[in-house]
Amino acid sequence: MPRQPEHRPDSFDYLIVGGGFAGCVLAERLASQLGQRVLIVDRREHIGGNAYDCLDKAGVLIHRYGPHIFHTNAQRVVDYLSQFTGWLPYEHRVLAQVDGQQVPIPINLTTLNRLYGLALDEAGAAAFLAARAVPMERIASSRDVVVSQVGEELYAKFFEGYTRKQWGRDARELDKMVTARVPTRTNADDRYFQDSFQCMPLHGYTRMFERMVDHPGITFWPGTDFAEVKDRVRYEQLVYCGPVDEYFGYCFGRLPYRSLRFEHRTLDQEWLQSVAVVNYPAPEVPFTRITEYKHLTGQVHPRTSITHEYPTDEGDPYYPVPAPENAALYRRYEALTENTPGVTFTGRLGTYRYYNMDQVVAQSLGLFERIRKKATATAS
Ligand code: FAD
Ligand code: UDP
Repeated sequence: MPRQPEHRPDSFDYLIVGGGFAGCVLAERLASQLGQRVLIVDRREHIGGNAYDCLDKAGVLIHRYGPHIFHTNAQRVVDYLSQFTGWLPYEHRVLAQVDGQQVPIPINLTTLNRLYGLALDEAGAAAFLAARAVPMERIASSRDVVVSQVGEELYAKFFEGYTRKQWGRDARELDKMVTARVPTRTNADDRYFQDSFQCMPLHGYTRMFERMVDHPGITFWPGTDFAEVKDRVRYEQLVYCGPVDEYFGYCFGRLPYRSLRFEHRTLDQEWLQSVAVVNYPAPEVPFTRITEYKHLTGQVHPRTSITHEYPTDEGDPYYPVPAPENAALYRRYEALTENTPGVTFTGRLGTYRYYNMDQVVAQSLGLFERIRKKATATAS
């Protein structure tokens, strides 16, 4: 793509809508590797998308949009992000409040022993679960995934209520990939993730994003909706990381996105709970989980800040809802994206995928490689 001989502030090679992982990684690559002039706009007042973190009034580092724990098996993603941040080793552990006590989730040996007052070893835990697991010919839904591994009772205690609250529907109506994110273990490994790399950005996510976009070829306009700039600035290519159905004016109807209301609080005490996240699967508790950030960030502070998460249908779109009818609706939008020249859709909202941060980074790096190849082919 030709560079403007003289750059005008309202003229760019790329307009990127969304300053989260998807948009910032691509902007950084385009500017630093291909010398492109990139404008990123975000309707929010800050960089970082859902991974944004900031100090609250008490000076405690919190994640405004809920706990973000970085974990990956992709060395390429680690190498890429390590240009912009150091890392603080952190292994995530989660407890679930069940039957009046807090026990590890994913369900493991310790969970079973504490819940049922047993002293099983690994083989005993495997036999315990095998005796309860419901054999199934086909694992079709998120309910099947769990019931086929741990049986009805543990499903009801740990998954049924949590899933109904989180997604506003029964686990029978969700793709199996949703609860398959949470494994079942018969050993005492109580880590939430088993990825080879589990760390938090040393000075937080926002600092990492700021360093990523700190390039003369990148301009960032916070508090700016795509609608405000689409006819005002000139650009050659558009990259859209917002909700794909919104871009097309909801012409086939709305894609469901699940939202959350975050209730942030600072307490006059040093600690509230023993781990970063405690899940509350009981249906009568209106929130899903409580996060205490200092466990994640390693910050030392005499007070502590926490967040309760209340799932809702209304509000910012956070989660695509993985279900067959939604995938079918998305495919109709996807067909439109393929016939929209000059516009690329990416990210969790742009491709309607329940992606973790590392997957979004990998998606943007992959997209960049395709752009680079095309640019090289055109130039030669
Ligand atoms: P986003 O971060 O959503 O960025 C999209 C941006 O586009 C937004 O900032 C939005 O304001 C902007 N935008 C949309 N439309 C417009 C428009 N029309 N004009 C201007 N701007 C627009 N992943 C993990 O790996 N580990 C975790 O522990 C983890 N925890 C999570 C917890 C919660 C509560 C949530 C919701 C997600 C979590 N994730 C986690 C997933 C992670 O947030 C995403 O993978 C990642 O942030 C997606 O990046 P993105 O750039 O695709 O989207
Ligand atoms: N889940 C559950 N109980 C738990 C933890 C998870 O029922 O204690 C289910 C729930 O449906 C959740 C899904 O498993 O949405 C995936 O959990 P994960 O922690 O990966 O969700 P995240 O909030 O990270 O997207």
